[in-house]
Amino acid sequence: LRSIGTYQQAGENSEAYFAGITNDVTEQKEDEQRKNDFIGMVSHELKTPLTSLTAIVQVANTKLKNSEDPFLAGAMGKANQQVKRMATMINGFLNVSRLESAKLLIDKKEFDLHDLVEEVVKEIAFTASTHTIKYNLCDHIMINADADKIGSVLTNLISNAIKYSPKGKDVEIKCGIENNKAVVSVTDEGIGLSPEDQAKVFDRYFRVESNNTRHISGFGIGLYLSAEIIRRHDGEIGVKSESGHGSTFYFSLPLV
Ligand code: ADP
Repeated sequence: LRSIGTYQQAGENSEAYFAGITNDVTEQKEDEQRKNDFIGMVSHELKTPLTSLTAIVQVANTKLKNSEDPFLAGAMGKANQQVKRMATMINGFLNVSRLESAKLLIDKKEFDLHDLVEEVVKEIAFTASTHTIKYNLCDHIMINADADKIGSVLTNLISNAIKYSPKGKDVEIKCGIENNKAVVSVTDEGIGLSPEDQAKVFDRYFRVESNNTRHISGFGIGLYLSAEIIRRHDGEIGVKSESGHGSTFYFSLPLV
C-alpha cells in the first residue's frame, strides 16, 4: 500500500492512483501464491521419507516397548509420538496448500458419527496421559461427510484442549443432536480466550501471543483448516470461552 501514498503525492492523476493499488494487490497475490506453492512442495517432499520413518518407528516401538532395557523401551515410545506429531504438522501444511489452490477434496459418504467419535477419542485417550478424557457416549447419528477430514477436525480440537490447559485437568467430549443437526463439542478447563482472540482463532496462521502460550509450539493452521472443512460440509464451527476459565469448541453438521 506504500505506492498509494507515492502516487497521491505525485499529483492528481487518478489513473495512476488506481494502477498503484492494482499492482500492489496483484504482487501480494503472486507473493502468496509463491509462498503457498513452496509450502506445498516442501511438505509434499517431506511426506514420503516421513511415511517410511513412521512405519519403521511404529514396528520398532511394538517390538521394543517391552524390552528389558528401559532406555530402549522409553526412547522408541517417545520417537513414535514425535514422528506422529511431525506427520500431523506436515499433513496440516499440505492441506493448507491444497486448500489455497482449491485442491482439497472432500469425499463424502454416509456413516455413523458415533463410530468416528469413539475411534478418535479412544486413540487420543490412549496417548494422553496428562489429562482426564471424559466422553459422554454419542447417539447413533448418520451423517454424509468425509470421515477422515471430520476425524482430523475432532483430533485437532481435542489436541488443542490438551495443549492449552494445565496437566491434570479434564477434557470433555460431547456428541448429540441439537436443532436437527449433529453437534460435537470439546470442553477444556484451560487458559481460555478473550472475546478479541475468539474472533480471530479461525484465521490462517493466527496464534494468541501471551506468556501462557509462548512456550507452546504450533503454526496456527489447525483451526483454520478445521473451519474450512466444516464450512465445506455446510456445517458451523464456533467457540465459547472466557479468559482463564476454559473453552468449548463445537461444530455442527447436517443430518442425512
Ligand atoms: P496452533 O495450536 O498450532 O497454534 P490452531 O489453529 O489449532 O493452531 O489454534 C490457533 C490458536 O488458537 C492457538 O495458537 C491458541 O492461541 C488458540 N487456541 C486454540 N485452541 C485453544 C484452546 N482450547 N484454548 C485456548 N486457546 C486455544
